[in-house]
Amino acid sequence: MNIKLENILAVISDEDNYEIRETSIFIKDGIIAGIDDFDGVFEADKVIDGKNKLVIPGLINCHTHTYMSVFRNIADDLSFDEWLFKNIMPREDKLSSEDAYWGALLSCIEMIKTGTTCFLDMHMFKNQTAKATVDSGMRAVISRGLSGENRSEDGAVRRINEALEEFEEWKNEKKLSFMLAPHAIYTCGTDYIKFIIDKAKEYNLPLHTHLSETRYEVSESEKNYGMTPVQYLDSLGFFELNTVAAHCVHLKDSDFKIFKKKNVNVVLNPKSNMKLGNGFAPVYRMINEGINVCMGTDSAASNNSLNLFSDMNCTALIHKAVNENPKAVTAFEVFKAATINGAKALGINSGQIKEGKAADLAILDLNCPQMRPKNNIIAALSYSANGSEVDTVIIDGEIVMENRKLLNVDENEVYESVEKIAEKIK
Ligand SMILES: [Zn+2]
Repeated sequence: MNIKLENILAVISDEDNYEIRETSIFIKDGIIAGIDDFDGVFEADKVIDGKNKLVIPGLINCHTHTYMSVFRNIADDLSFDEWLFKNIMPREDKLSSEDAYWGALLSCIEMIKTGTTCFLDMHMFKNQTAKATVDSGMRAVISRGLSGENRSEDGAVRRINEALEEFEEWKNEKKLSFMLAPHAIYTCGTDYIKFIIDKAKEYNLPLHTHLSETRYEVSESEKNYGMTPVQYLDSLGFFELNTVAAHCVHLKDSDFKIFKKKNVNVVLNPKSNMKLGNGFAPVYRMINEGINVCMGTDSAASNNSLNLFSDMNCTALIHKAVNENPKAVTAFEVFKAATINGAKALGINSGQIKEGKAADLAILDLNCPQMRPKNNIIAALSYSANGSEVDTVIIDGEIVMENRKLLNVDENEVYESVEKIAEKIK
């Protein structure tokens, strides 16, 4: 489908700068084929009038667990251990694969409605995120969460086999790609992590993990291995592979050096860190040291939403307060984290409105009080927007939501299904 966005205000950004201007955007074969003009004849199948609208690169959520949306508001105001081991994990045992599908689809709806076009998922149910992603029209990087002691333990072997089978089954799907995801150093034994690294090399897959999320994780690592979690993974050769590390809240000086040297991508999940009482990641320092920081929501069980605008807003504000410096972590740095940096971390060709990039775009309605007057659009996106402004979403050149109506998913069917699941796992 050829789509033309006509006379629309657009955020044209790169690594260092951005420009906001009215333009026309030409979308052909899933790609942004022209900005301002199209070289040649363009026959639009669809023209979108850009009056009072703003187009931005679709947001990229670099860490979530989509199936967990069925756990939204089920276990709150608890310690990390009580939350994970006593409330979440026992309920996970009650979920069927089909339940996970409906949870993932609920997440896709929420993400599309708040302008996210791509996400990195860590799941426990083979094929279900992939199915929900394809059904909703989203783009995703999928990773099966891996836990276990060593390479000969039955469960550990089963989980990695599921990850690799899923990869083989879906690898030709255009909008899907894959990673291997050792859940965390406290749920994976050293031998199992080494085994996962070997498999990642064999299949040429990047790695996705939770890292240095809690103070306790760091102190246990120092006790058990005499190293921080970051040093420990580095000593195993983990960061020789492209890595996306979620959280990184509690870092020592040496950890920053390792991240920089090994080009580790760090995902900020500020709302999850706050809700679970884990603290604030040293974002200002990470940005100053040139580490690629991107944005995530974590799951709806620890956030409790998958609305990236909300996490962007927190990131822009928290670090000014923490550093007692209003110049720390600017609106543009946050916007970049949610777009261009995320695309870099996930190895996808989007995150920017630029010729040749995938047409993953969110169109916002500017006729909302919180977006007026239009003094500074980047500030509006990081400080004022709440996600409800998102009106139309295009992913890979395909319209997946138009005038807030999802075109591929029956929302009511999803809401009814998740209510039944919630009843079952109460
Ligand atoms: Zn997580």
